[in-house]
Amino acid sequence: MPSSPDPEQFIRGVRAGDRRLLAKTITLIESSLPSHQELSRHILDQLLPHTGKALRMGISGVPGAGKSTFIETLGMMLIEQGHRVAVLAVDPSSKRSGGSVLADKTRMEKLAANPAAFIRPSPSGGTLGGVALKTRESALVCEAAGFDVVIIETVGVGQSETAVAAMVDFFLLLLIAGAGDELQGIKKGILELVDAIVINKADGDNVVRAQQAQRAYTSALQFLMPSSPTWTPPVLTCSALEMKGIDTIWATVLEHRKKMITTGELAEKRQRQALEWMWSIIENGLKERFSRSPSVKKLLSKISREVQHGTTPPAAAHELLNLFDTTKS
Ligand code: GDP
Repeated sequence: MPSSPDPEQFIRGVRAGDRRLLAKTITLIESSLPSHQELSRHILDQLLPHTGKALRMGISGVPGAGKSTFIETLGMMLIEQGHRVAVLAVDPSSKRSGGSVLADKTRMEKLAANPAAFIRPSPSGGTLGGVALKTRESALVCEAAGFDVVIIETVGVGQSETAVAAMVDFFLLLLIAGAGDELQGIKKGILELVDAIVINKADGDNVVRAQQAQRAYTSALQFLMPSSPTWTPPVLTCSALEMKGIDTIWATVLEHRKKMITTGELAEKRQRQALEWMWSIIENGLKERFSRSPSVKKLLSKISREVQHGTTPPAAAHELLNLFDTTKS
């Protein structure tokens, strides 16, 4: 990164679909250097008016469910139809050197090599809130670069589904038929976020089991409050490997989009998400400033030790918050 990069160069480059500058802009967004953060805020501000038209899709599922195979198959189908597809990830456990979500170059090989696709691994390290914020901003930069389908992948563990559902128009849960209780391991909270469930690997000997799982989830969803009054999340099956059922899934995504636009629910959802975005920046910023505050830093380990030896957590928390307040005023 040059010492004083010109924001205009990034803005023009992204708008022109220059992949190198797109990647560099995302690197700025992911950087924790205050000067990079300031620069990326400025760039993002200028790019935001050029976002909003893309279809934003979230995909979650346990490791091994077939997310990367599914995204590759879907992505290649969409590219054939003339779309440009960006794939990003939220994986708070990811380390640059590790082999987690999207970090492995062998995942989505065809898509990665296609000029109409852009794949970016999850930002590494930090809190879920911080990682999710960076992914959300990177996704918007991709939109400004002309990608009209933005897919955000997350592993089906922890709280990351909630974070991803809060930044997409359509949230899809990818499952596989398991032995025994089909609902095992799936948190009820996640089912409440979904716009569709897809049972993958419905091929070979597995077709009947996939259909059984489809029935089980269809009835499970009946007992939940749908997130939209006009949309009942369907349960579909597919084989990402054999490219079966992917077109029906995409048709469902488009049907959902059409309905959400007609009823005004898409606009409402995005307004809600804009507010959530603002609040997550505030929460994140406060946490960061709190931990950077010199007076907090000075006493944090002492007060933490005191909590381990009897000081009550509320008393300690208030003492630290007061220290922080005094610093600010
Ligand atoms: P991820 O961890 O969710 O991204 O899962 P992957 O896409 O890496 O897939 C995990 C394994 O399941 C790989 O060996 C895939 O080849 C296999 N797989 C993915 N989709 C299908 C499918 O539709 N049918 C079958 N039989 N295997 C699949």
